[in-house]
Amino acid sequence: MTYPTDRPATWFITGASRGLGLELVKKLLERGDNVAATTRSTERLIGSLEGTDTSRLHALALDLADEAQVVQAVNSTKERFGTIDVVVNNAGYGYLGAVEEVPDADVRAMFDVQIFGAWNVLRAVLPGFREAHSGHIINISSIVGLLAFPGWGLYAAGKFALEGLTASLAGEVADYGIKVNLVEPGYMRTDFLRPVSIGLPESTTDAYPAVREMVEQHLAMPGTQLGDPAKAAEAIITVATTGTAPIHQILGSDSLGLAEARVKGLTEAIDASRELAVTTDIPGVA
Ligand code: NAP
Repeated sequence: MTYPTDRPATWFITGASRGLGLELVKKLLERGDNVAATTRSTERLIGSLEGTDTSRLHALALDLADEAQVVQAVNSTKERFGTIDVVVNNAGYGYLGAVEEVPDADVRAMFDVQIFGAWNVLRAVLPGFREAHSGHIINISSIVGLLAFPGWGLYAAGKFALEGLTASLAGEVADYGIKVNLVEPGYMRTDFLRPVSIGLPESTTDAYPAVREMVEQHLAMPGTQLGDPAKAAEAIITVATTGTAPIHQILGSDSLGLAEARVKGLTEAIDASRELAVTTDIPGVA
C-alpha cells in the first residue's frame, strides 16, 4: 500500500479520547486527514479536542467487544469518507497484579478490549483492504508484548496474544498489498498508570512482595515517564506515511534497551537449550 498523497488519508483509530489515541487524532486532524475515532464517550473525545478543527472527525461511540457495533462503525466510516487507509488498534489499558491474584472477570474484560476488540476491527476492515489491494494496519502493543515482568502477567498475556495474531496476519495479507506493523512503546506520559486507566485486583495476598513493590513503583510513576505521547503519535504517522518500518517498531529508548536485552536473553536461552532440543527428533526424518 502506498500512503495517499493526492487526497486526505482516512484513519480509523480505537481508544481516542485520551493518551496516545487522542494525540494521534489531534495531529491527523491538523494535517487535514480524515479521522474515524472510536471511544466509549464521544462527549469526552469532543471535549478533549477543543480548539482543533473537527470538520474531518467522525466520532464513533462503541463497545469494541461488540462485533456488530464494530462492523457498523467501519461501514459508517466508509460511507462518510469513501475508504479507510490506515487502522490503528490503540485501545487498551494496563493491569497490575500477580497471576494468582487477578480475577477471571477482570482478565476477560481486558482481553475483550485488547484482543477481541482489535480482532473485531481487523475482521471488519480486511475484506475491503483485500479488495482494494491496499491498507495499513498498525496494532499498538507494548514492550510488555516482547518481554514480561512480575506483576504484569495478564497484561503481557494480552499483548503477547496481539503480537502473535499480528505477526501471523502480516504473513497472510502481504500478497494483498496490505501493510502490518506492531508498535512497541516504552513508558509514555499518558493516563495509562493513573487510577482512571490501570486495573488492579480487588484483593491481594502477602505472598508476592516483588509484585507489591512493582505496583507501588508504577502507581507513583505518572508524570515522570520518559515517552512523550505526542512524539509517539508523530512516529506512528511516520510508520504509515513511509510504509518502511519493520514489523516490530520500537518506540522510546527505554523500550529499545529492554528489547535488546530480551533478544540477548532469548539467544542465550536458545543456546542453552540446544543440546536437549535435538534429542526429541524421530531418526530418519529430514
Ligand atoms: P490511556 O491514556 O489510558 O488511554 C487509553 C485509551 O484506551 C483510552 O483513550 C480509552 O478510550 C481506551 N480504553 C481504555 N479502556 C477501554 C475499554 N475498557 N474499552 C475501550 N477502550 C478503552 O493510555 P495510553 O497510554 O494512551 O494507551 C494507548 C495504548 O498504548 C494501549 O494499547 C496501551 O496498552 C499502549 N501502551 C501504553 C504505554 C504507556 O506507558 N502509556 C506503554 C506501552 C503500551 P476511550 O476512553 O476513548 O474509550
